[in-house]
Amino acid sequence: MPYKDQRAAKGGHADFVKNPDVQNFLAECDYLREPSEAEAQKIVATFSKAPSPNPQNIPRYVVASDASKSDTPINDKLPSTQVGYVKVSQVLIDTDSYSELINPNSRFVDPFKVAELHRNASPITFVLPGSNVRFKGAKSVKDGFRKAIFEQLSMDRSQGSSNRLVLSEILVEMNEGIVKIGETREKKGQCPSCGAEHDFSFTLNSQQQACPDCNEIVYVTDWLRLHEDVSDFGNNTSAITRMMNAVEHLLLCAMIKQIFRADPKALGNMAFVMDGPLAIFGQPAKLHARIMNFLAKINTMLEQLKIDPLLIVGLQKTGEVMDHINLLKKYLPNGVLRLLDDTYRYEYIKGNDAPSKNFGNETYYGQDFIFKTESGRVFNFAIPYTFANKAESVNFSKQKADPLVYGNNIAKACQLIRHFELDLYESAIVPVALAHRHASISIMPGGHVLDILTKTGLQKNHQNL
Ligand SMILES: [Zn+2]
Repeated sequence: MPYKDQRAAKGGHADFVKNPDVQNFLAECDYLREPSEAEAQKIVATFSKAPSPNPQNIPRYVVASDASKSDTPINDKLPSTQVGYVKVSQVLIDTDSYSELINPNSRFVDPFKVAELHRNASPITFVLPGSNVRFKGAKSVKDGFRKAIFEQLSMDRSQGSSNRLVLSEILVEMNEGIVKIGETREKKGQCPSCGAEHDFSFTLNSQQQACPDCNEIVYVTDWLRLHEDVSDFGNNTSAITRMMNAVEHLLLCAMIKQIFRADPKALGNMAFVMDGPLAIFGQPAKLHARIMNFLAKINTMLEQLKIDPLLIVGLQKTGEVMDHINLLKKYLPNGVLRLLDDTYRYEYIKGNDAPSKNFGNETYYGQDFIFKTESGRVFNFAIPYTFANKAESVNFSKQKADPLVYGNNIAKACQLIRHFELDLYESAIVPVALAHRHASISIMPGGHVLDILTKTGLQKNHQNL
């Protein structure tokens, strides 16, 4: 096997190849396809020139969300005792003042101003019981977890604003007004506490009910199934992570709805930036389908009002797509873009032994792209599918891969990334990093984005829309 010409890769991951055991082993192997420049060139040839830079495509406002959590045990005694703490900040960036503040030469911002903003940050927070913690006398950690989720998702998070921001309400709305727990085509709903089969249906005005069998309260938010992974003494980190992700996406929808109600035109001049893929994984995964449907409905209404569709951008800084991009980076010319279709994903990233008919069928609500900017930084970004659901389309895998369905949003997403790329965060994430660091950003209580939009004179900007 001709590995003698192979140079040690950066980070030394080829060093072990010198080991005699590995050498002997490799002597008995050969490549499926010999790694070569030609292979990379073949991939590069499938990229297209990115949409031309166009400053007109920059929205006036960018809302970036930034979620974090901690769930380490609260002491070192046994049994391990855990509390989960989740916070989601939303920051509003006025792109005009951003341009004024940033130094075009260093693209650097005053860290002291940033530290000051940090102190004033007031994110939406959630506290959840983890292992060995009974919330309000619940009989198990799981039941207490359900209760805590409901209490905190049914609170008005507008923090003094006159516009309600209640996550359990948006959940009902996303389910077309009625939420049914645990129901499938084959069977009736199931009590999340005792498993007894009953019809558990919830509406805006009725968000909890007692199980006729065990008398435990069942909540509308149990629909998210976040509690299913929770045990009394196990590590409940994954449930807390799922909760954080679900809440971040619910909050996005709640905020879009809140702004739509108050001032739909505002949405046409805004972008929402999420840290991570446009997808919901694990127990609450079916939420992704509700988000698709919700966004499609909002877009239909915007279209009727002759307002541009929503611009939502998911930016992923790690993961297998990013690993792939980092390998490919040096071969790619600057200013290129590729829609990451399923064929490409299975051929070059995931392996194609048993490709599913539609990648991310149970989880994704957005389409991934690979983008290398004109200045040479690489990004994996996603924008939402434009369909209300996946079943509608006979061949969703093909339909989602048609760039035309995304209209101007691909060009807008590229322009947003160009506008915010910073030397400071090599190929990492842009507005989301700014959520922590930038002086032109208002870090505010999550429910206040709308208030700030109104105060900063969005109304008067309507003439420019
Ligand atoms: Zn029950």
